[in-house]
Amino acid sequence: MSLKPLSIVWFRRDLRLTDNPTLNAAMAHGGTVLPLYIDAPDSEAPWAPGGASRWWLHHSLAALDQALRQRGNSLLIARGQPLEVLRALCRETGADAVFWNRLYEPAAIARDTEIKAALQEDGIEVHSSNGTLWREPWQIRTGGNEPYRVFTPFWRNLAAQLPEPRVSAAPERMAAPERVPRSLQLKDLDLLPSLGWAGEFLAHWQPGEAGALELLAGFVETDLGSYRSQRDLPAVDASSRLSAHLHFGELSPQQVQAATRRGTGDAEPYLRQLGWREFAHHLLYHYPHTAQAPLNPKFAAFPWRRAADYGEELRAWQRGRTGIPIVDAGMRQLWRSGWMHNRVRMLVASLLTKNLLIPWQEGARWFWDTLLDASLANNTMGWQWVAGCGADAAPYFRVFNPVLQSQKFDAHGVYIRRWVPELARLPDDALHAPWLAKPAVLAQAGVRLGQNYPLPIMDLATSRERALAAYAQIKAG
Ligand code: FAD
Repeated sequence: MSLKPLSIVWFRRDLRLTDNPTLNAAMAHGGTVLPLYIDAPDSEAPWAPGGASRWWLHHSLAALDQALRQRGNSLLIARGQPLEVLRALCRETGADAVFWNRLYEPAAIARDTEIKAALQEDGIEVHSSNGTLWREPWQIRTGGNEPYRVFTPFWRNLAAQLPEPRVSAAPERMAAPERVPRSLQLKDLDLLPSLGWAGEFLAHWQPGEAGALELLAGFVETDLGSYRSQRDLPAVDASSRLSAHLHFGELSPQQVQAATRRGTGDAEPYLRQLGWREFAHHLLYHYPHTAQAPLNPKFAAFPWRRAADYGEELRAWQRGRTGIPIVDAGMRQLWRSGWMHNRVRMLVASLLTKNLLIPWQEGARWFWDTLLDASLANNTMGWQWVAGCGADAAPYFRVFNPVLQSQKFDAHGVYIRRWVPELARLPDDALHAPWLAKPAVLAQAGVRLGQNYPLPIMDLATSRERALAAYAQIKAG
């Protein structure tokens, strides 16, 4: 038993030391700090982290442990039901307080509420903080005291409430308890995929706080000023690519906001995107059923195709073999790098839900497993927005034409050629819709449709009409 006060800091998706309010609170509590991570995927069911997220988590936990060791402490890794783990650790170490940053997914809220009550009953202090959002979902209300369902007034309200960002520094030293309970090894958690799938991820990403800070600094210095004009171009690395870092809490939005003050140009278009992130959390908190079901109840009757009928097309979409180059480029970027450009996310989601009439939940599930930034709030909102059934959703008659979008946003095909190399030798004017190209042009570029690159798995025009008819049906219903 330790005689000094001992606080357990339960890290979840706040894997950083800088500007971490719960860590600061634990340090202020006095005594020593026991940093803890509990592997408990079942407690987040049905949305336990997917394969790509687990890969990120592995590397981010390693980075956190290293940062703690540099400060005289280390990360204790445990596995099991969080309440049991916390109770056992409190007993074993004599900890008198547990600290965590709040999460906003329905399963996490239910779990944490139960844990808090049980620990308090044991006589343990429990302190939770907001380490994730600018404003928590219940802090922003409409004039009529309702949650928002439309983004622009939500953002206006939120933006008006944002104070000057104040960022706390990472502690320089962090005293560890005299006796630290035995930790599992990170590799015991089996977070890395067994197949070679994630082989390329490390070439694209540096999970952990140091990687996040480096990326943020580089973005502010070189890309923030041109964000508004360049962010829709998938071939240009003009967006911040901070989504996974933000999801795992390797950065706070306050840190991002503070950093933008050091950049040149108008930061509003960029900060507004963080506003969408807040809006997504707001929606999931107030409408927790939306991870599974449409926000707009009319869509419960939407005539999606049946799973038995769309399996093959779903697989073609997942593998980047739909025959629509911009869509295939996006799906392959996702598979190989664990991330996809925002504009292309919209196009692939539109093709799945509208041209293929496959339920948005299938796409959301695939993204959940393959995106390194998979976030229940952002992913749910993104899919429902594209499918037309969410808050502030794209109107149902808006079916993206992927060929026109491709010509507009990847005019010279740099993005398509990067991810779909079998089309690389096609000239620009044939690249976006190879099925319309002259046979001689295809032959000269070595493209044999139906052989080394698929023919489109659906006709864009007739599938669009079918989608409009389906949407009209529920509109009238
Ligand atoms: P930037 O353009 O640099 O934006 C900065 C940050 O703002 C992002 O890191 C992200 O945290 C936030 N942000 C930006 N756009 C959005 C948005 N539309 N909604 C919510 N937050 C946003 N984002 C995720 O983080 N996780 C997901 O699982 C996810 N799934 C999506 C699914 C679909 C179908 C769609 C259309 C979008 C999805 N997004 C998701 C939103 C968006 O595509 C990504 O946040 C963005 O592409 C990440 O790249 P970035 O960090 O360079 O973004």
